[in-house]
Amino acid sequence: MKSAIKRTLLFTVIIAVMGCATQEKARWSVHDKNRPTPPVITPAAVSGVAPSDAIVLFDGSNLSAWESTKDGSGVRWKLENGYMQVVAKTGNIRTRQAFGSCQIHLEWATPEVVKGTSQKRGNSGIFLMGQYELQILDSYENQTYADGQAAAIYGQNPPLVNVCRGPGQWQTYDIIFHAPVFDGDKVIKPATITVFQNGVLVQDHCEIKGTTFHKALAHYEPHADKLPLMLQEHGNPIRFRNIWIRPL
Ligand code: MG
Repeated sequence: MKSAIKRTLLFTVIIAVMGCATQEKARWSVHDKNRPTPPVITPAAVSGVAPSDAIVLFDGSNLSAWESTKDGSGVRWKLENGYMQVVAKTGNIRTRQAFGSCQIHLEWATPEVVKGTSQKRGNSGIFLMGQYELQILDSYENQTYADGQAAAIYGQNPPLVNVCRGPGQWQTYDIIFHAPVFDGDKVIKPATITVFQNGVLVQDHCEIKGTTFHKALAHYEPHADKLPLMLQEHGNPIRFRNIWIRPL
């Protein structure tokens, strides 16, 4: 009996190895010297700063990469001391450039002086492709619904852990986003997102169910391959700094 199991296992391993070898043969042999090596880029001296191939969207000096979503005019958020700050009732802002799948680094801080509770405390958000919100909220000892706290895919998926720093402290998001793929009216490959907050995994290759809504089920509506990245004005003076993106 034992030898029969061993034979079956051995057979399975041989088939798997053959499968891999055939797959590789279709492209490159193992350790193929003709296989192109990846491009060489220069990392920043300090982790979190833009590497040489990143598109810098905000370095603290100007808002030229951004525009208002209201009318495409200039941004009416505050620019001071190396950060930008949301100004209530001025509307969301979006990048002038459009992006699809990408890696993003972004830093944010909720107000040091705490005002409001739940969703009214330090609310903003990053909308990938202007559609899919990764929530920004002061979720430090602030009760709200799980799929609406910081690092949640809004209305869909809570973060794995709450790793929020206190009010007024700078926090980081590192995001890997893969855009959805459409065939006509149908989504044939949903978007996925992986997020690290303050260096900790909070969204692990989460499949996005569609455009994020307030109190409504998410669903996909076909859109372009590339769209601007949007930051939300939710009335609270959230600060942003050091934003860069690498299209994938
Ligand atoms: Mg929000």
